[in-house]
Amino acid sequence: MFSRNPRGKSSPRAGANRFGRPTSRGRRKAPAARELDFTQFVKKAIQTTETETFNPTHRFADFEMHSKLKANIVKCGYVHPTPIQDGAIPHILKGRDVVGIANTGTGKTAAFLLPLIHKTFKHTTEKVLIIVPTRELALQIEEELRKFAAGSGLHSALCIGGAHIGDQVRSLSRNPSFVIGTPGRLKDLIERGKLHISEFNNIVLDEVDRMLDMGFIQDIKYLVALMKTPRQSLFFSATMPREIAELAKKFLNDPVTITIKARATSENVDQDIVRVLPKEDKIEVLHNLLLLPEFKKVLIFGRTKHGVEKLALRLQDRGFKADSIHGDKSQSQRARALRRFKNDELAILVATDVAARGLDIPDVTHVINYELPENYEDYIHRIGRTGRGTKKGNALTFVD
Ligand code: ADP
Ligand code: MG
Repeated sequence: MFSRNPRGKSSPRAGANRFGRPTSRGRRKAPAARELDFTQFVKKAIQTTETETFNPTHRFADFEMHSKLKANIVKCGYVHPTPIQDGAIPHILKGRDVVGIANTGTGKTAAFLLPLIHKTFKHTTEKVLIIVPTRELALQIEEELRKFAAGSGLHSALCIGGAHIGDQVRSLSRNPSFVIGTPGRLKDLIERGKLHISEFNNIVLDEVDRMLDMGFIQDIKYLVALMKTPRQSLFFSATMPREIAELAKKFLNDPVTITIKARATSENVDQDIVRVLPKEDKIEVLHNLLLLPEFKKVLIFGRTKHGVEKLALRLQDRGFKADSIHGDKSQSQRARALRRFKNDELAILVATDVAARGLDIPDVTHVINYELPENYEDYIHRIGRTGRGTKKGNALTFVD
């Protein structure tokens, strides 16, 4: 939408947005925003219509999976597989290596969990290692694993930084079928001789693109090289940069690549900018927005851990039910804030990009970029936290 409104005059939305605030006129460059074109942050949501409804070729009932697992899927309320599940599950069940490329919020977790749970139900010797970029994502995957494997007695171990390593050593000693972890902690546990990765014959790399962004490539190479062969390897990612293709070529055995060319997640999202004038106080502008009744569940992004912490405290002082997640908080604090936000005990969560990556939080009404993202890709990840599934979301980006 670069050409939408080059001089910021012709469109009524350009002069003032629906909150009556001035918007994209007279771009001024903030230091961090030199490469960002603010017109990219102004876009109307595309309404989902009936004709776009996906027709899966399978139903969950058609998959050759354990009856207990199928019963749990029904309990979770899943009826039809999502496109990535529809495409990937049959191949994973056949034992093929799979590269799955699909946007956030398209159900990639179940796409790899369901067939792998089936496998571990069938053969108790199967062991699965799931490597993810962030602690929150690991927690989320374990939560989903617990739902799908409920009543089966399946063991899992969560190996993430910021949490007590002794507890993790203990859960590893119970011979878990699933180990879910972040690269640093997994490496640590291997080096301490507590995690015997050579016993694992299934590996999942989730959010591979983010792991590359976060500089985990060497760790991943180290981990994968230690694993058992033959093994089944699955890579999931929203995008497929060259490094991932190379990694896949090196570590996967004749993989099937499933690419879901869905509409960008962001197309469900009404996007606009909020211009903060030099004489205005940014937090006052935010305060006034948060008072509006439609701002029911708001995820606010800041750039630094310190800034995020400070903003959350200032919002609390102003009487808002707010909390924050960022890298300086303990794992239990992060988990608690996230849980309360998910359960609607908090109306506002302030987060850094890293802490919020991949999170699936239902019904976020608004994403607010209180501080600009580093680049457009981060912007897309941020706003992908709202407008999940077919729901319409809203994203506002502060520009000062
Ligand atoms: P991704 O990893 O692609 O970002 P997730 O696996 O986090 O997406 O899934 C997004 C949301 O969709 C989750 O709340 C999940 O429970 C839900 N979901 C996934 N698959 C289905 C399905 N087949 N039917 C209904 N809901 C689903
Ligand atoms: Mg995911």
